[in-house]
Amino acid sequence: MTASASSFLAKSTVKAGDLDHRRKINFNIGRYNAVVPVGKQQFEELHLARERAKNVKWRAMESLLTQLEDFETNLTRRGGKVIWAEHAERALEEILAICKEKECRTIVKSKSMVTEEIGLNHFLEEHGIESVETDLGEYIQQLDEEPPYHIVTPAMHKSKEDVAKLFYEKLHTEPNLTPEQLTLVAREKLRKKYPAAEIGITGANFIVSDIGAVAITENEGNARLSCSFPKTHIVIVGLEKVIPSITDLALFWPLLATYGTGQRVTVYNTIITGPRQPGETDGPEDMYVILLDNGRTNLLANEKTRESLYCIRCGACLNACPVYKNIGGHSYSATYSGPIGSVITPHLKEMGEWKHLSYASSLCGNCTEVCAVKINLHELLLENRYEAVEQGQGTWGEKMAWKAWKQASLHRKFMNSGNSRLKNWLVNRVFKGWSRHRGDLQFADKTFNELWSEQGR
Ligand code: SF4
Repeated sequence: MTASASSFLAKSTVKAGDLDHRRKINFNIGRYNAVVPVGKQQFEELHLARERAKNVKWRAMESLLTQLEDFETNLTRRGGKVIWAEHAERALEEILAICKEKECRTIVKSKSMVTEEIGLNHFLEEHGIESVETDLGEYIQQLDEEPPYHIVTPAMHKSKEDVAKLFYEKLHTEPNLTPEQLTLVAREKLRKKYPAAEIGITGANFIVSDIGAVAITENEGNARLSCSFPKTHIVIVGLEKVIPSITDLALFWPLLATYGTGQRVTVYNTIITGPRQPGETDGPEDMYVILLDNGRTNLLANEKTRESLYCIRCGACLNACPVYKNIGGHSYSATYSGPIGSVITPHLKEMGEWKHLSYASSLCGNCTEVCAVKINLHELLLENRYEAVEQGQGTWGEKMAWKAWKQASLHRKFMNSGNSRLKNWLVNRVFKGWSRHRGDLQFADKTFNELWSEQGR
């Protein structure tokens, strides 16, 4: 078993038995479940909207290079600079080079899973640059020195009492502050950081090809402050986030808001088309957009897994997944957790080391059912398992078990030999692979052939 797989099993086992964790997750997902149906009411034809979104993303992925080149041309025309980063190291090198050029000591950063993916904060810290998370959930996680727990709600696993305790310990506030008071404390601390920072870093929810813009969606206004106060704005974004036209936002913004948080539309939606233009009074002097591959073209190369690049990171599949709800986001030890994380992580990282995530599913299909852009997630989990086997990544025991199963299934005599008690003993007591985490298998008392001949056929 790989190191990642055994860590996953160990962490999942602990979390699955942690009733306090379950209570907090059920509470927070319960609140999400209560508001999503309200958000959905804004769509007259919800299924059609999701199908349309899927088709738009299909078109974008099938013409990805053209879309990205158009984006680059249009952004460059307004003074933006586009950097293509094949992997995380290249993206980090480019960011460091910009930081050095701008003599940067402090960065304000809004929520971005891609920056988690490349380990940006840790990297900047190593180079003596302070990187401050300005999204409240991310700020809480940074204070607690923990990675985000969920792609939309980074501190979903914490109760308001947990956050009050954390602020008391780390910021020396009064104990037992209310959520409103805690928010004000964070606000006061963070507001001072914006004017002091030389660089602001954000992600992007969408890259808009036809106007050369990035679109950022948020509820707190911190991303706007991060990209408008500092003199330099760096956007780092996965290349799959492209959509062909600004008009597509009319579809994607409400979909993302509803499936992400149950809102009709998120509070702040910003379209940025470049740095400050002559005659404009605010905005950064320089703007860079780093287009990150980091394994995404592996997904693109496979006609089946390509569909996973349609993801708009709404988090709905995590909230719906019975496995995620039991083991929590940190057990995955990957940037992207839940069903979508299990689909893409083996391709973004390495199949042999991460294939176990594709097996951590009951294949109930609930993720596919709720996906905002109708990605066939549970089928992609099967596709990953198939690919892992094709690449010879299965264990020796697994290979032998399937060989034996195939032989037995192909030879009726083999299947008919021995009585049900012997078969039960063999499967449940000798080969314990099946029954280790499940109830015992029970063979029928009589074989099919015996029943058949009893009926005189
Ligand atoms: S796979 Fe679908 S449901 Fe899951 S985060 Fe992506 S868009 Fe949302």
